[in-house]
Order: sequence, then C-alpha cells, then structure tokens
Amino acid sequence: MRPRTGRRFPLSALLIALPLLAPAGLIAAPPDPTGGASGAGAGGGGAAIAGGGAAASQRAPHGRADIVLHGGPVYTMNPVRSWAEAVAIKGDRIVYVGSSQGVAGFINPGRTKVVDLKGRMLLPAFQDAHIHPISGGVSYALGCTLYDLAGKEAYQKRVAECAAKPAAGGWVRGDGWALSAFAPSGIPDRRLLDAVSPGRPVYLESSDGHSAWVNSRALQIAGITRDTADPPGGRIDHDAKGDPIGSLQDTAMALVAERIPPYTAEQRREGLRYALRMLHGYGVTSFQDASVSEEGLEVYRALDEAGELTARVVASLWWERDQGLEQIPRLVDLRRRYTHGRVRATTVKVMQDGVMEVQTAAVLKPYLGKGPGLGLTMIEPEKLKAAVTALDKEGFQVHFHAIGDRAIRDCLDAIEAARRANGARDARHHLSHIELFNPADIPRFRQLGAVANFQPLWAYADPYITDLTLPFLEPGRQRWLYPIASLLRSGAVVAFGSDWSVTSANPLEEIEVAVTRMGAQGETRTPFIPEERIDLRDAIAAFTLNAAYVSSQEDRTGSIEAGKLADLIVLDRNLFAIPPEQISDAKVLLTLFAGKPVYGDLTLASPAAGAAGGN
Ligand SMILES: [Zn+2]
Repeated sequence: MRPRTGRRFPLSALLIALPLLAPAGLIAAPPDPTGGASGAGAGGGGAAIAGGGAAASQRAPHGRADIVLHGGPVYTMNPVRSWAEAVAIKGDRIVYVGSSQGVAGFINPGRTKVVDLKGRMLLPAFQDAHIHPISGGVSYALGCTLYDLAGKEAYQKRVAECAAKPAAGGWVRGDGWALSAFAPSGIPDRRLLDAVSPGRPVYLESSDGHSAWVNSRALQIAGITRDTADPPGGRIDHDAKGDPIGSLQDTAMALVAERIPPYTAEQRREGLRYALRMLHGYGVTSFQDASVSEEGLEVYRALDEAGELTARVVASLWWERDQGLEQIPRLVDLRRRYTHGRVRATTVKVMQDGVMEVQTAAVLKPYLGKGPGLGLTMIEPEKLKAAVTALDKEGFQVHFHAIGDRAIRDCLDAIEAARRANGARDARHHLSHIELFNPADIPRFRQLGAVANFQPLWAYADPYITDLTLPFLEPGRQRWLYPIASLLRSGAVVAFGSDWSVTSANPLEEIEVAVTRMGAQGETRTPFIPEERIDLRDAIAAFTLNAAYVSSQEDRTGSIEAGKLADLIVLDRNLFAIPPEQISDAKVLLTLFAGKPVYGDLTLASPAAGAAGGN
C-alpha cells in the first residue's frame, strides 16, 4: 500500500558497543541493560505470547555445544527473563540461555565455535506474518520493477527500457508504481505507456497489487472497450470521454492479466530463491505466505525437497470468491498434499475488500465527496459467515484481508459466527492490514481470539495517508487509522508483517515506524496519531513471538529459550540503546536458521553491501 522505501546506503562499520553486560554469574535474571523493567514483550499491556513446550533442562550439558555466542546483550523474548548474556547451540537447537559463566561448561575447546558478540545484540530471528515471497521474488528477479522510482516520468523511462529488451510473449510486465504518483485520483493513464511502448502490450501492477496500469495495446488484446461492463468485485476506469483510461481495479485486472503467459516453474523457483536471500539478509527465517496457488505450493515443495527451503513457511491457500463451500474439499486436499517438511498449507486467505486510496476498501460510511458508495464488499456478509464457519470447522486458520471499517466488522462477525457454531477452538484467525477501525470493534479481537496483523510501515503520514486517505474521512474517523497501541491495550495479540513486495520486507523499518509513527527514513518529523505509538519491546514481539503464534510455532520458535530451534540473528547494535529514529539503521550481521548461518558468518564481519538483495 505504500511506495517502497528506497535502498539504504551501506552503514558505516561503527558499532555502538556499549558496556552493556552485568557481571557474569546470574543465571536466573541478568539485569536489563536498558534499565527498564524486565518482563514480557507486552510492556504496553497487550498480549505477548508465552512460548510453551520448550522446557529442556539447562542444568547439565547433555553434550558440548557446536556454537556458543556470548559477550553481548541477548534479548530473549522470554516473558520471565528478557535478557541474558550467552547462548549455546547444539545441532538445530538452543541448549542453553543464561550467563557468560554458565555457558562455559558447554564449550569444548577446539570443537565449539565461540563467537564474541562484542556488545552486539542477539535476538530471535524475525517472522513475517504476511508476505508474498514468490510473486515479489519473481518480480524483482525477472520483471519490470518500478518500486524505487519517483513518479510518472521515471516510470516511463523504466518502461521504455523494459520495452526495448526482447522477452517471450511480447508482454512488458511488472509492478511497483505508486497510486500517489497519480494523486488525487490515483488513476494512471494508458497514453503515458503508449508513448514509450506503442507496439508491445504493457501490464503493470500497482505496488499494493490492487490496480493495474495498462497501455492501449493491452486493452485491445483483452477486448476491453467503452462498452465492457465491470466484472463483479472490480472496476474499469474511464476517461472523460468514456473510453477505458488504462486503469483496472481488483478483479478487472484479470481481464488483461489472464492474457499474459504465466511464469514458468523454474522462473518461480528463481523468484523464491531471490526472496529467501533477501529475507535472510533482513533476519527473517519464518513467514506466512499471504496467498499461494497450487503452482506456488509446487515451488515451495521443490525447494524443500532440494534442501533449499531455509525458512519455515505457512502457506495461505486462496479462497475463490466466485465459489462457495463446494471448494472446501479442494482446499482440504491441497492441505493434505502440500503440508510437508518445512511447509504447512494450513491457512485460507479470504479477501474481503480493496484499499482506501481508490475507495475500494469497504467502509461503514461513504467516502467524503465520493458519492454514496461504501467501497467493495467482496463477500456478502452472510456468505462470509458460512465460509468462515465451514473453514473453522475443517480446522483451517483464516487469514483475512480487511482494510476498511466495514470489512473489519464483517470479518469479526464471521469469526463470531464460527465460534458460535463450532465452539471456541484455538484457531488463531487473523486480520491483515486493518487500516480503518470503528473503535467499537477494537475489543472484539481479544474477545474472539482474533490476531491483529498490522503492516506498521504504513502507519505514518505519507502521501497515501495525507493525499489519498484523510481527505475522504471525517475527522472523527481519521483518529482510527492503524490503532496499533489501542489493540495492544485491549489485550489483543498483535503481529506484524511486511506485505512485501508492496513495501520493504525489512522488519527494522517496520519496527521503527511502529515505535515512532514517522517515516523510517526521515520522510516525516511529526508522529502520526502519536497515541498509537508502541514500545520497542511490543514491536519486537510482534515480529517474533507473536508472529510465531500466528503460524502456530511459538512452542519452538520466536524466543530464545533452551529447547527451541536456533533461529537467531545478530544485529550490529542494541536497539534498546539507540534513539528510536535509528532503529532502521541497524544491520543484520548474522542470521542462523536451525543453527546454521544462512546470512553472514560466525566472524560477524559485516556482510558485503547489497548481499541482502531486494530493496
Ligand atoms: Zn498482501
């Protein structure tokens, strides 16, 4: 939903190596180097999940460790003991968390690799609760990407370059243009593309994936004329004369997209490899793929079977809106066939509305100055209740796309109906994006056991907010945009995701904006709805233990505890010892997945600039 933030410059190698460590010897509760209270990640009163089931004994080393990390602050996410000094790893597991003195018994000189953190910070690896790795990876590895560009003219220049290259099928395809580049309407014009690619058809998705910008040749191939009716759940935009302008919303995008030859299986695998490299560079080793086709499931399976899938993946299967409950046996079959190895196809994605910026988000009151419409409600509320009740009964987690206050309410109503019919099971249904709330719905997340899955990078006053959202909302409703702190205070479980490739996949940028409500790169200097800022510890919880909860793996990942999997990262500085505006300047130096480096190495030398890939 946001223009991608630009690539960062490599940081100086300066480390903030503060003398953080307390005297060794305290196993139970090393002091909190921030001087704050030790405690759960939910300092703001919201729920952080206590990881269970990881109660391996620390008393006696059952074997020597393969790796010991010590000499820097270890932020554990353990609700009882937030900070430690040292960690020992054997195989894929953490076998010890505690003091520098206590870890000594795990070191076998000559065999154990001992890493001196030199004041750098050890954290559980990040987990992204909503991301599109295959499509994003394919787009970056193979497509005509516009994400890092500044506006119309830059887009034209890039498209001209893409159109000059030969490509199979003749199509120029890509994504990443910003709706804000076409403010105030958010609607681009085909003639800008005709000027740079008159012959080859062009299909470009917006950065949020909800709009397509196409040229005249593409409209012609798809047979779209001034008389073509809008498909259900979609809109063909027109110019003043009534001709298609070259902008397609939501389901109308498919009218053109279905004419484009699909990427091959090998191209998709290449895309996923790209995404994994990038994510490891950002310290991410688990994620929930927010929408996976059967072809996508094959990609995950292929990499898993080849030993290349260095991540724990929950795949969200796609709910076909034009079908009803008859599709459930197909989903059950996909879950059975593709839940294997590091992949669990245990979730179903239900898309309930569009986006605020082009007034397709489903809202409770009309957009100001935009007529009586209430946006797009993708699934009629009674049908949604029936679908969610049936999916819940079948043991699926439901992952909703809900942005407007009406969509949020409809999704919560559907969860409520499912609980009434099936009883309260440990379903962990979650609502993603959740931009505009009616405050009456805030306490319902906790009441219904629904997880609030925010993309906090969007929660500052960028042009999407100031130009394309606020003007269409009454002041009383403007207050309830991305109310993350209110959800935490209500006791809801709050998890974070990036929605990459919509916006940056770097959790440190997301965490910074959640804490400051300002642009991660200084784009704004005034917090946006400052009462919705949250604590750093809550923001880290949302990208570790609480995201693990969304993917039902908080018993083995998401915190640093003996018995849990050694999915860990080292940052070049202690996030608690720097001003919040510098959080996104921190760099990942090492990412361990199941005890093995997948980014950086045990020397903790700063990995080469650009090795992270992506933006
Ligand atoms: Zn998404």
